Amino acid sequence: MAVFDHPEFDNHEHVAFYHDEEAGLSAIIAVHNTNLGPALGGCRMWPYINSAEALNDVLRLSKGMSYKAAMANLKLGGGKSVIIGDPRKAKTPQMMTAMGKFVDSLGGKYFTAEDSGISVTDLQLMAEQSDYIAGVKAQYHFAGEQPDGNPAPSTAYGVFVGLQAAVKYALNRDLTGVKVAIQGMGHVGFRLAKHLSDAGAQLFVTDIYPEGVERAVNELGATAVAPQDIYALDVDVVAPCAMGASINDETLPTIKAKVIAGAANNQLAREEIGDTLRQQGILYAPDYVINAGGVIDIYHQRMETSTNEALRTHIEQIGETLNEIFERADKEHKATNRVANVIAEERFAHKG
Ligand code: NAD
Repeated sequence: MAVFDHPEFDNHEHVAFYHDEEAGLSAIIAVHNTNLGPALGGCRMWPYINSAEALNDVLRLSKGMSYKAAMANLKLGGGKSVIIGDPRKAKTPQMMTAMGKFVDSLGGKYFTAEDSGISVTDLQLMAEQSDYIAGVKAQYHFAGEQPDGNPAPSTAYGVFVGLQAAVKYALNRDLTGVKVAIQGMGHVGFRLAKHLSDAGAQLFVTDIYPEGVERAVNELGATAVAPQDIYALDVDVVAPCAMGASINDETLPTIKAKVIAGAANNQLAREEIGDTLRQQGILYAPDYVINAGGVIDIYHQRMETSTNEALRTHIEQIGETLNEIFERADKEHKATNRVANVIAEERFAHKG
């Protein structure tokens, strides 16, 4: 299988393949760039149809982590790992133990954490084999929630801070009475809704499952909306907090909001959509910048010493970083996603 001439290969420093027949583990770790520090990125377990698909994903995702870490002012690089298999059917404790040994074999060049298909319990098994497992314990928390290693509260708070900055920049107002449509009432979406409600925003929410929506309607006074209608609402902000590629050729022409600011990864179906958003006067908060609260949280949990306040202050920098991007995008007449990529590359190209 070709790696160096793979379309997603981007001068990755290290790509390691691992197979443990007894444990039933086939996995790949990709380390994209460690100029700023050791690579951090979650471990994803997915029923890839073949190893080529898994390689494609790990190369792409590890590169994305270099950008996210650099923009979050972390002394970390980008990496990712993938396990080939269905997490609901094929996962065993032996497999997680073997994965821990694989991570350990890179000697600290790569730290893993949670991603799709991998739970805190899985990470705890890996952590018995390696010191390079993040997201298994939490000591710090920016707010009152009980720390448990789940980064969603920090992600939601970062998205809230970023959304506030985007509204201030685009509409020159605070959040009182601002209409926000949120797609996805999951771990991040619901918490974001709570912050926005506390700040006086008017909420419109949707999900493909009713529980989160009902909670937002009952507890936060939100208005429930059908999933297919969420992007076309006459609102000020849309917040994609469900899956990727939700800003696409279908939704783009229907968007009336002047701000897009949400938690989902890879929100734009293509980079060029960012150019169209700019032409249409819609301010887009680049996804990997605004949703970095979770990775900032994991970073602080790994620090020898930190504090709740230090974590909060670090998450709040997301607002300042977004302002830097918005200003530079206007000055250079470029899309915000393209400006974010350039700033990240400037940062991680240089040794920290
Ligand atoms: P989650 O699975 O808890 O919530 C996602 C919600 O979206 C679910 O309730 C799901 O039913 C809903 N959904 C899926 N498809 C939908 C559709 N078509 N229309 C409406 N609702 C739909 O996930 P989460 O942890 O809240 O993360 C939300 C997004 O943010 C994901 O894209 C995730 O990759 C990204 N993200 C999360 C974190 C984190 O800390 N959890 C960090 C960075 C990025």
